[in-house]
Amino acid sequence: MMDNPNVVVIIARCSQTKQSFGIRLEEKSSNCWIADWAFPVQELTAKKEGYDNTEIVGSFSVDTAYPGCPYCQHQSFCLCGGNSFFKCNKVGCNDDQAIDYICPWCNNKVIIDGSITSLRAGDDR
Ligand SMILES: [Zn+2]
Ligand SMILES: [Zn+2]
Repeated sequence: MMDNPNVVVIIARCSQTKQSFGIRLEEKSSNCWIADWAFPVQELTAKKEGYDNTEIVGSFSVDTAYPGCPYCQHQSFCLCGGNSFFKCNKVGCNDDQAIDYICPWCNNKVIIDGSITSLRAGDDR
């Protein structure tokens, strides 16, 4: 059924260095997104490519092949949001154990509420 895998790239920032990178996500099954690649990217390039153009919804997980954040090798990522009043809904690198997470976009301390249900992304074409 999935002859043309649905692939998008979202723009994220390293929570340690605040440098930007792209995360490639593939829709393995309907509304089930798997992150399998991350690469350094300039934010200007990301804007030009339209990485923040569309919103994808569903469930998100990280493939075992995911190389981690290109700057600090954190194996996962999280979305600024959750229960926090201050949120920018942008993505930063994270590791699963991190409890204290400072959003690299808006510098707010973010309460991570576990699962991400939507992300802004662009088509990887
Ligand atoms: Zn990082
Ligand atoms: Zn934020």
